[in-house]
Amino acid sequence: MSAVQLQLGDDGILVATMDLAGRPMNVVGDELMTGIAEAMARLADAAVKGLVLTSGKADFCAGGDLDRMSKWTTPEQPFEGSMAMKQVLRQLELQGKPVVAAINGHALGGGLELALACHARFAIDDPKLKIGQPEVKLGLLPGGGGTVRLSRLVGIQQALQICGEGGDLSPPKALGMGLLTGLARDRDELMALARAWIQANPKAKQPWDSPKFRFPGGDSRSPAVAQVWSIAPSIAAQKTWGNYPAVQHIMSAIFEGGLLDFDAASVVESRYFAACAMSQVSKNMIGTLWYQLNAIKKGASRPEGVAKSLVRKLGILGAGMMGAGIAHVSAKAGIDVVLLDTTQEAADKGKAYSQGLLDKAVKKGRSTPEKRDALLARITPTTDYAALAGCDLVIEAVFEDRAVKADVTAKAEAVIGEGAVFASNTSTLPITGLAQASRRPASFLGLHFFSPVDKMPLVEIIVGKETSDETLARGFDYVLQIGKTPIVVNDSRGFYTSRVFGTYVMEGIAMLKEGVHPRSIEVAGLQAGMPMPPLALQDEVSLSLGLHVAEQTKKDLAAEGKPWTEHPGMGVVRQLCEIGRIGKKAGRGFYDYDDDGKRLWPELTTLYPVAAQQPPQRELIDRLMFAQANEAARCFEEGVLRSVADANIGSIFGWGFAPFQGGALQFVNAMGAPAFVARARELAAKYGPRFEPAAVVVKLAESGGRFKD
Ligand code: NAD
Repeated sequence: MSAVQLQLGDDGILVATMDLAGRPMNVVGDELMTGIAEAMARLADAAVKGLVLTSGKADFCAGGDLDRMSKWTTPEQPFEGSMAMKQVLRQLELQGKPVVAAINGHALGGGLELALACHARFAIDDPKLKIGQPEVKLGLLPGGGGTVRLSRLVGIQQALQICGEGGDLSPPKALGMGLLTGLARDRDELMALARAWIQANPKAKQPWDSPKFRFPGGDSRSPAVAQVWSIAPSIAAQKTWGNYPAVQHIMSAIFEGGLLDFDAASVVESRYFAACAMSQVSKNMIGTLWYQLNAIKKGASRPEGVAKSLVRKLGILGAGMMGAGIAHVSAKAGIDVVLLDTTQEAADKGKAYSQGLLDKAVKKGRSTPEKRDALLARITPTTDYAALAGCDLVIEAVFEDRAVKADVTAKAEAVIGEGAVFASNTSTLPITGLAQASRRPASFLGLHFFSPVDKMPLVEIIVGKETSDETLARGFDYVLQIGKTPIVVNDSRGFYTSRVFGTYVMEGIAMLKEGVHPRSIEVAGLQAGMPMPPLALQDEVSLSLGLHVAEQTKKDLAAEGKPWTEHPGMGVVRQLCEIGRIGKKAGRGFYDYDDDGKRLWPELTTLYPVAAQQPPQRELIDRLMFAQANEAARCFEEGVLRSVADANIGSIFGWGFAPFQGGALQFVNAMGAPAFVARARELAAKYGPRFEPAAVVVKLAESGGRFKD
């Protein structure tokens, strides 16, 4: 069966419905393009007046076929693949009869490029419908004429924004900028508008095929656009630190395309597309942020054979920063929430947090008063444990104190049913130990949220020694239910995310002690692609908390009879804490904070004099990244991590590990285990045994292997 079904109406209009067999979404690839070429061939028939291109699926078309792309090994393949698609699209717009896109659902990436090659575009005015060129988010650029047509349709500046940032446009926004021809209320009206346009425009032509064509807002030579070109590269460099070649290639394709005729611009775009498709960065990003993320969302880390579950009523113990955030995201997902604290005032304050977020959303037009009130009605603040009766899941987010946690666990378990799951949001305390306070340790697990809960996409699920598969599956289902991404790890000190994240900040702090200039350290963090530099980050987390966790760990290890090696950066943390510089919350840490923002504390270089000989930035960047990747590899080796996908996604979503690297273990894969081992040994010789490569990587280097699930 063809991927595009054709139906000729009495009015002489041919409706081409894209509906790829066996796929949940339409994606641009050979199958779809063949179908479109077949539809186009029918236009040669004198009885056919025009063509409406639409979709039989919920989405119009979701983008390019990444499975096909992942098989490309030489730059000729993406170049030719992209040119072949363009040839069909160019014929489509030049064949003389009107072609209209009837956009019934998301038109993204290659999907939008198909629509742009039509003479008119109508879309259903649904706030959920997304229009955009998100390729850049996977290290690619629109290679089906997206940069060429958008810059000619909506102007160079808008095209730069759409392709360079990869965000979604809502239908009204796309209409406002001239990307769409009109909006429809529903599918019937959509088809009616498309047909009417064909009847009214029997000789349709694209604006860029008119001899009088001018770029809206000017081409790359015009003074107005020259201004854009004078600042766009610096803005991009400030955001990306040169780590995302696709961003540069998109700018180049649009700039050069803005100096050339349509067909030459198309060839230039395909060349840059090939450069992106061949880049290690796109391989890293597609592998992790597409394949591994999709595998996780489909339940790769969820135990099989447990029926899917739904949380209807959730109990939260502790209405502080984390409890309030968890209540908010859960109520947003339609779950009834009991929010319990020691005083009614504290519980109410937790609910007020939601009120604050929602009031802001209403003010900005992102929500309505009705939706806000409905969400708030689902949160019941209380001090009464009896209110927890009937909860499917209870999450404790009380103080990080074993005794307090044990107390609330026992009180909650006295009320909730045998079938309910109990979770702890602890950030540091091993789950197996906390489960000792439970009557039913098999139903006990860790659900580690990140702050701020409403913004952070990850939840780290921790499996205790006695946690059952059913409990894990139910925790997993809940995380998906609230729209977050779950990774599953085994119990261990610091679990996975806190443990590896800690190596990043501590490495930066150790450099300070060695006499590296604090500004070089901070810049190295940003150059490495991390969202925040190490010293600023430790200030956010607070130095006193870091010290407290280290002291606790030291005590716990001593009790277990295990050795403790203090990180060389810890002395600095202790020293700053002693003089009251405990971080941002005190207004003083590595930085000074005031109403104007923050500045590195000038006395830092008095306390830690800057060495006369400064290392190159590359050395600092390598230290920051190797420290993390090596620790992640150790977590894998020790069985704390259960999968490579969890390691990579957990690192990017949990603490912002440089996304262009594809995650903490992909960092090793991309470099190759032998190169990683060699460099890690060099770093170990200079800076200490913490850089000795994890045994698992040494093994991979010897066997020629790589991390894979
Ligand atoms: P918080 O101090 O803001 O809130 C704790 C709340 O628990 C307070 O409202 C307190 O009144 C309440 N509480 C204390 N004892 C209680 C009891 N016996 N019964 C009921 N309520 C009680 O702390 P937080 O930052 O929300 O952290 C809570 C938990 O989440 C801790 O275990 C922490 O380690 C963990 N966590 C925190 C973060 C973070 O970034 N803050 C991140 C992940 C996990």
